[in-house]
Amino acid sequence: MDFDDTPEEAAWRDECNAFLSRHAELKPERADLGRSYWAKARSEAEEHTYAQSCRAWQRTKFDEGWAGLTWPTEYGGRGLSSHRAGIFAEEEGRYDLPQGQFAQSIGMAGPTIIVHGTDEQKARYLAPMLTGEETWCQLFSEPGAGSDLAGLRTSAVVDGDEIVVNGQKVWTSNAGESAHGMLLVRSDVDVPKHRGISYLLLDMTTPGIDIRPLKQPTGRSEFNEVFLDDVRVPIENVLGEINAGWGPILTTLTNERTGIGGQSGMFDDVIELARDMGVADDPVVRQDLMKLYARTRTIAYLGYRVRTAASRGEMPGPESSVLKLANSSRLEQLGNLVMTMMGARGTLYADDAVMGGFWQNYAFLGQWMSRIGGGTDEVQRNIMGENVLGLPQEPRPDKGIPFKDIPT
Ligand SMILES: Cc1cc2nc3c(=O)[nH]c(=O)nc-3n(C[C@H](O)[C@H](O)[C@H](O)COP(=O)(O)OP(=O)(O)OC[C@H]3O[C@@H](n4cnc5c(N)ncnc54)[C@H](O)[C@@H]3O)c2cc1C
Repeated sequence: MDFDDTPEEAAWRDECNAFLSRHAELKPERADLGRSYWAKARSEAEEHTYAQSCRAWQRTKFDEGWAGLTWPTEYGGRGLSSHRAGIFAEEEGRYDLPQGQFAQSIGMAGPTIIVHGTDEQKARYLAPMLTGEETWCQLFSEPGAGSDLAGLRTSAVVDGDEIVVNGQKVWTSNAGESAHGMLLVRSDVDVPKHRGISYLLLDMTTPGIDIRPLKQPTGRSEFNEVFLDDVRVPIENVLGEINAGWGPILTTLTNERTGIGGQSGMFDDVIELARDMGVADDPVVRQDLMKLYARTRTIAYLGYRVRTAASRGEMPGPESSVLKLANSSRLEQLGNLVMTMMGARGTLYADDAVMGGFWQNYAFLGQWMSRIGGGTDEVQRNIMGENVLGLPQEPRPDKGIPFKDIPT
């Protein structure tokens, strides 16, 4: 495992900083978390302004050759290693820049289309992702299909050169702002459940799509229900082969989990909070801070190991599977610790709360984003048990049975 930059990596880091410092200031040593995205629910207009500033920054990166660093050059990227992209992300995170909005497009839809798309699909969809003009949402989960994604029931019937879709999706993040959706449908009920699913690239302005925002306890509406009523999708919008969507699905999910697992620490801010709350000398708090520190560093080293392997052209091993779960349990530790440190003040909200409620939103309520999104902790444990540790498989009574015969 290499912790220090090689001379080439140090030169690359300098190059990144030269670009970034032309566009933004470094974040102050002690960031005003009360003004951050996580502190308060913002009005719709504020959300829109924030999204616009993210797009403008993405456009700048594209224009100056800093978008899609790991994407092949033929699709507008730089063809760099994920290790170099990781160094850029580390440096970008130190600057006061509007980042976000593109995890589902550049982080998930793009890599899936690069692997499974036709030349026409690549030509149509990839460039507007990199410029930030078109964002994507993920229409996977349904009321009866989350962990058991292959149980999805949104129906698809081929009608000439179109596919007619009917059904409901749920927990769709950012559906309202997205130009396109990665849509999973059940296109064959006569075969076992994994074999009758198709992956469609959906234009979100197609007639028959009804997006209904879900109000969260935080006051925000980041999720939506999406109802699909006789939505007609051109057959050329199938990604990969019809009924063979499971391959592209795994590509999307792997990219999603890597993105969620790769989040960073904020440990210094937690120490500052302990000081502000007057609990930095409390022996129990100090013990919990040490546990959190150990976990944070372990995850950072795990991340270095994955990146070092990737930079040597090796396939990351079980480390990458462990990363998402390790990060989830770090967030659980963090959420519980900050609430303990704030005591009764942890029950306050918005302007009355410490740092405008940043810690309640980001660390306590926000932990569930990682712990549920992209596959729950329990599901990650199942995957690791079966695929990494070689433990016996879970009982799967619906295995090999035609989908239409699975009892509901
Ligand atoms: C922040 C966030 C963003 C999201 N964004 C999107 C999005 O944009 N698009 C999208 O399609 N979906 C999205 N989701 C949905 C997410 O993928 C699902 O919530 C997740 O897959 C779990 O599915 P479920 O909610 O149906 O829970 P269920 O699958 O019903 O699970 C309920 C409970 O049962 C447990 N469980 C289920 N099966 C097993 C098992 N075999 N063994 C042990 N325990 C089990 C689970 O761990 C969980 O605790 C998002 C979720 C979150 C939290």
